[in-house]
Amino acid sequence: MRLLDKMLHLLFPQQSSCLLCGQPAGSEALCGDCMEGIGGSRQDLNSCQRCGRYLPETGEDNDAGRSGKAHKGGRYCPECLEAPPAFFMARSLGPYRGDLKQVIYMYKYTGYRSLCRPLGLLLAELFLREKEFWDSRVIVPVPLSLEKMRTRGFNQSELLAERMGQLLNLPVVRCLLRTIDTPSQSKLTRQGRQDNIRGAFAINRQLIINRQIMHGNGTAAFADGMAAFAGGTAAPAGGIAAPAGGINKTLGRAGKVLLVDDILTTGATAGECSRVLLREGAQSISVITLASGLQEKM
Ligand SMILES: [Zn+2]
Ligand SMILES: [Zn+2]
Repeated sequence: MRLLDKMLHLLFPQQSSCLLCGQPAGSEALCGDCMEGIGGSRQDLNSCQRCGRYLPETGEDNDAGRSGKAHKGGRYCPECLEAPPAFFMARSLGPYRGDLKQVIYMYKYTGYRSLCRPLGLLLAELFLREKEFWDSRVIVPVPLSLEKMRTRGFNQSELLAERMGQLLNLPVVRCLLRTIDTPSQSKLTRQGRQDNIRGAFAINRQLIINRQIMHGNGTAAFADGMAAFAGGTAAPAGGIAAPAGGINKTLGRAGKVLLVDDILTTGATAGECSRVLLREGAQSISVITLASGLQEKM
């Protein structure tokens, strides 16, 4: 895309052309064709029923896109069979490559945060396609470290979670904090990543307590959201009753948590966030991401 187009998009987002192909895209950052392409990235790729990661195309049986033969353990990948992650399932729009990879790069690193709208919509559609997501009661975004927040200026997972929350009418609760900014994980194995990330997340008790105190100023939607988070009852007139028993009871009542992140590479980050949420009383965690990793050839 030419520089002028990029500048025009930033200045006049309502007259945008698609960031991927340059076609007119109405008020969104992606055109309908590219949305469809990205939304259907997974096609009929074989993926692990637990972690959702895709198996590579083998190419050996002239059946591109299918590698059922590599799935010797049945529906789960060997890593999930050996050591199941703390979340009960993870799903994504597709493998981290091609247009999906490019659009995630643009979203995170080149300032097109408006991409959270079409990408959040695609995640909401994925949510609606996967029945097992439906009993999720709250959405929790994977947090960024303060350092990353400072350099990037926004948390890509939080914006996606907010968009999904609007579309699905689910409360978004930022109850996780990233306490340690772990070094790059890209060269580590799954086990290495798990060791590396252990202890990197904590529950943000301060935020929730503050929000409950501030409930009188909150919007109706937020009050409803917090009421659902606190136990599924309608918001009482004038605000939300602070749930008795603290965050762990609150999470326990909220029950099923939908964790949102941009990419699930090995599942170590999502697994560690899930571990923290389960420890605080959440019943179960499912994970939704834009992309997930392709597994190593077996
Ligand atoms: Zn396009
Ligand atoms: Zn797996």
